[in-house]
Amino acid sequence: MQRRFSRIRAIVTGWLVGVVLLGVRTGVAGALPNVVVIFCDDLGYGDIGAFGAKAWRTPNLDRMAAEGRKFSRFYVSSAVCSASRAALLTGSAHSRVGVHGAFGPGDRRGLAVEETTLAEVVRAKGYATGIFGKWHLGRPEGLLPVAQGFEEYFGLPYSGDMWPRHPETPKAYPPLPLMEGAKVLRTLDDQSDLTAEITARAVRFIGEKKDRPFLLYVPHPQPHVPLYCSERFRGKSGAGLYGDVIEELDWSVGEILGALRANGLDERTLVVFTSDNGPWLSYGEHAGSSGGLREGKGTSWEGGIRVPCVMRWPGVIPAGSECREPVATIDLVPTVAALAGAELPTGRLDGVDVRAALEGRGPVPERELFIRYADNELQAVIAGRWKLVLPHAYRTLGDQEKAKGGIPVKYRMAKVTAPELYDLENDPGEKRDVAAERPEEVARLLAAAERSRKELGDSLTGVKGEANRPVGMVK
Ligand code: MG
Repeated sequence: MQRRFSRIRAIVTGWLVGVVLLGVRTGVAGALPNVVVIFCDDLGYGDIGAFGAKAWRTPNLDRMAAEGRKFSRFYVSSAVCSASRAALLTGSAHSRVGVHGAFGPGDRRGLAVEETTLAEVVRAKGYATGIFGKWHLGRPEGLLPVAQGFEEYFGLPYSGDMWPRHPETPKAYPPLPLMEGAKVLRTLDDQSDLTAEITARAVRFIGEKKDRPFLLYVPHPQPHVPLYCSERFRGKSGAGLYGDVIEELDWSVGEILGALRANGLDERTLVVFTSDNGPWLSYGEHAGSSGGLREGKGTSWEGGIRVPCVMRWPGVIPAGSECREPVATIDLVPTVAALAGAELPTGRLDGVDVRAALEGRGPVPERELFIRYADNELQAVIAGRWKLVLPHAYRTLGDQEKAKGGIPVKYRMAKVTAPELYDLENDPGEKRDVAAERPEEVARLLAAAERSRKELGDSLTGVKGEANRPVGMVK
């Protein structure tokens, strides 16, 4: 009798310990975690306080970093809008899903509806899904967010500078539509209130969906040019319009975190804050800072592809911590799928499940990151501390005077003529090529590049890939 009791006690204790552990792991026992992804546009590595910004204030992001985890080596797939977004939402390299560069208003192309998006992954588990902000993965109706797993959509279909007030090519663009679902709400000739409107929608969504798991995707159109902030932030940062815009984005983060807290969702919600690519440097005082990284948007140097990233989930992600390993936007889909117990998209993914790195209990699985830009040019390979930069041409400003007033200056082209190797641990600014001193690392990464070329192609060497899937197209 005694023995049977102690056995039952052991089973019950074990079960309770299991429940408690599970509770810690998933925030609240049994509940699927909400996921909030705040994705800024062209925000530089050095643009927020936790990553060294001093010219303006980001108190809400500072708090988010203090309560969460800073990812100091967080990468996008390509340093340009549409390609970067395709990778974020599919867990695949943008070249795998056929999305390169940035789609224009008249484009019939977009992310193929056959691809499984993050929204579709979690929707299968009963999540509510909303996107408030800039889509940029296809303007035709059949390629809008509402055709790609998002139940609610409010925002821009593409970049805010693709409009008749473009500083260089105004005639190239039709009026800029503001979308709700698949409908045009109105066209815009001023974008001052957009950040506040997007924030209000996001906050309302949290309140409405608080009783079920949700995916809230907030791809802010700012601080991409043309810079806009609402009246109450204008002139407030003391650091010019760019600073004002960042302070409003920080306010927006505070509103979203506040709504989570007010609805008792803090411990049930993973919040990810990051950017689609580095700063658009040719816009000078209307561009952000790469924080000492080399070059910016539109290049595969660190300033283009390494973006600031903070994740917060009280009780799961260790507060005030930092992850220094390479993590990437392509890891979001497999990681969220694992958290939600959802099925992965069929077909090969390029991202990996990084839950252990999020929770600070283990390393990121070893892998290479392949950085492509332009029309499928394989420009760089990253593995651990090493980065191989392959021969290619890239845009740079040199010592040119900084652009003023939102009118960009012209880039010139520069060339990498032989493979260069950088030790990102000791030289994050990519100043010293160590290829000659490390032939074994060069050979290893060249071999990895060759494997990737075979799989996903490379227009620099004329290799056609075997596994690229077609871009979406609406006739
Ligand atoms: Mg961008």
